Amino acid sequence: MSTAVHTAPEGGLSSGYGENPAAAGSERLLSVDRVSLEYRTRERIVRATHHVSFDVYRADRFVLLGPSGCGKSTLLKAIAGFVEPVSGTIRLGDEPVRGPGADRVVVFQEFDQLPPWKTVVENVAFPLRVARKLSRAQAKDRALHYLEKVGLAAFADAHPHTLSGGMKQRVAIARALAMQPRILLMDEPFAALDALTRRKMQEELLQLWDEARFTVLFVTHSIEEALIVGNRILLLSPHPGRVRAELNSHQYSQESLGSADFQQSVARIHRLLFETGTGNQEQAREQVQA
Ligand code: ADP
Ligand code: MG
Repeated sequence: MSTAVHTAPEGGLSSGYGENPAAAGSERLLSVDRVSLEYRTRERIVRATHHVSFDVYRADRFVLLGPSGCGKSTLLKAIAGFVEPVSGTIRLGDEPVRGPGADRVVVFQEFDQLPPWKTVVENVAFPLRVARKLSRAQAKDRALHYLEKVGLAAFADAHPHTLSGGMKQRVAIARALAMQPRILLMDEPFAALDALTRRKMQEELLQLWDEARFTVLFVTHSIEEALIVGNRILLLSPHPGRVRAELNSHQYSQESLGSADFQQSVARIHRLLFETGTGNQEQAREQVQA
């Protein structure tokens, strides 16, 4: 597919997460090419996304941003290999995605994604034994290492129901990172948290990224969250999701929140998301560039 068009970084706000892997000529990891996704029920066909294309490069923090119902979760499920496109292709590296695999791990919004009968460390270690074939001792070691990274080493033997929502999400993140997937898929992982915890978790995710430079595809419907977490943002139109624009956002971090530049970007994205008019993807990209 054609190369993505990026808007010039505006304002020059500096941040610790200012590198842009795509711009730096990093390796293309995930390629989504004109992907349409549908749900077929007995009564009707629901088109979730229409001809969506984007590329994710190694160490990208790539955000899918769009209103509720625009097909973000369905896209993530397709990349995870749970939903097959009706048209278009999804490639990870050189291989087309044909089904689920341990090279892609999903973190969901829900706090109940951890089996409640396992302790925290067992929750993290279990997939390492099953999917990564680690021995019990190796799995536990690696699990404890990642629990330490998310600040939960002291809760290794606790059961999930004794943890707060934020702590449960930290366990889910530790479990996902411990798998060392080629790409981490996150579906609104902080959306059910209170505002303060949400900010803290965004900050922690960026710190983890700064240490390990993993590749993450992050879904959100929050413009602010997209700007803070992402280095690149794909804007999707309301249902069915089509690409509205692709933007660079690597210059922003939480320190940018109150700045005029940040607020202008929020307003601009809001307009791009909600202004009417269809227009195809290429036109949308050109509009953004103009
Ligand atoms: P988002 O994550 O952006 O909120 P989704 O990917 O969950 O959007 O949904 C996209 C569209 O597909 C919506 O119109 C939704 O109602 C529809 N949809 C989602 N899941 C199903 C399903 N299992 N069966 C039928 N339609 C569905
Ligand atoms: Mg969703």
